[in-house]
Amino acid sequence: MNLKERTAETAERAHHPYSASKLQYVEACPFYDSAESTSEASEAGTRQHAATESGTAEGLESDEEAENVTKVLDYLDAVRQELSETWGKFEELNEIYVGVDKKAIKDETGHVWKGTSGGFLDKAFISADRKHARVIDYKFGKWKVEDTSNNVQGFVYAVGLLRKFPSLEDIRVEFAMPALDLIDSEIFTAAQLEEKYLRILTIVERAIAARRGAIKIEPSPAQGLCVFCANKASCKPLQEMALQIGKKFAPLKIPEDLRLDHINDPREAQLGIQLADVVKGWAESFRRAATEKAIESDDFVPEGYELKHVTNREIVDIPAMRKLAATVGITTEEFDAMLKLGIGDIDKAISAKSARGQKRAAIAKFDEVARAAGVVADGDTKTFLAMKRNVAEED
Ligand code: SF4
Repeated sequence: MNLKERTAETAERAHHPYSASKLQYVEACPFYDSAESTSEASEAGTRQHAATESGTAEGLESDEEAENVTKVLDYLDAVRQELSETWGKFEELNEIYVGVDKKAIKDETGHVWKGTSGGFLDKAFISADRKHARVIDYKFGKWKVEDTSNNVQGFVYAVGLLRKFPSLEDIRVEFAMPALDLIDSEIFTAAQLEEKYLRILTIVERAIAARRGAIKIEPSPAQGLCVFCANKASCKPLQEMALQIGKKFAPLKIPEDLRLDHINDPREAQLGIQLADVVKGWAESFRRAATEKAIESDDFVPEGYELKHVTNREIVDIPAMRKLAATVGITTEEFDAMLKLGIGDIDKAISAKSARGQKRAAIAKFDEVARAAGVVADGDTKTFLAMKRNVAEED
């Protein structure tokens, strides 16, 4: 295979709808599709993977990322030491693609994919006699992944490695989660992996049949699943779940159709915005109540979460800080731009000091005087939908 063909094959594998990293989600909902994500967390994960690959934590953006990568690199060194004592010689593989089979899989659109599933594993060690293997996948997020004993991504890597090295008798699969100080592992025999292969086939074939309409299965919304799905805007069962939250907290009228690409009617848009306000209010209240409970009792902290304490720092001497900032290259203009005072706070203070019925007039008068004196000017304009208010009520 030439370079062009190899590049095309790698791109094709990366877009496989049933690749290793998607299967756990597809098992939970056969209609799941990965949303394109360029979140800060996914970019941080990519950086840490690349740093681990290159074998150094230097140049990473934060101490936390450097610490995570160092933990994984130290762990890999410890594993090498352990394997040289138990296996003697071994082979080390990085970022290799492993496929569970070579079947041609036709998806619901008619596109034919090579192999039922597969994926790029981070690291594999193979004993010199090719009887034992150890797969290590790095997870740099703050969430614990599915236990290895039930982790379909791990099954795909192990089955794929077994296809590549058929003499393997056992494969230990590990997920290294440095942010949680956790290594979760499980050893699978070759016989057990054939059972896991059946589970992989079932997940993929069920999803294709459901998407083609050959079997009747509804999308099944779930916490921790739909948030990563590309179909949120068009998924009816997910919308129905959101609507129940809205109905519970306010006597809202609900739009007939909540799909983002179906906003055509201003009346429907009004109902949708009202619903969004209620759901947002519920979400914030729920988070606040759960945090209060966790503060009261350590036992209440939900799995995968921790209580974080952030204390705001305040500048107590602005001229001295301006000088100090200059020593690290922050110019006076840059520093002063950071200190911009929001006019809204001054409006609030005027409102609080004004008599009822006079508040808006007092704010308008002050604005006029401030503009005339040249101490206030218009900044950037932001445009958003806001509920109309009754002027008398505001005063
Ligand atoms: S949004 Fe819909 S299709 Fe996507 S995972 Fe959730 S239920 Fe399934």
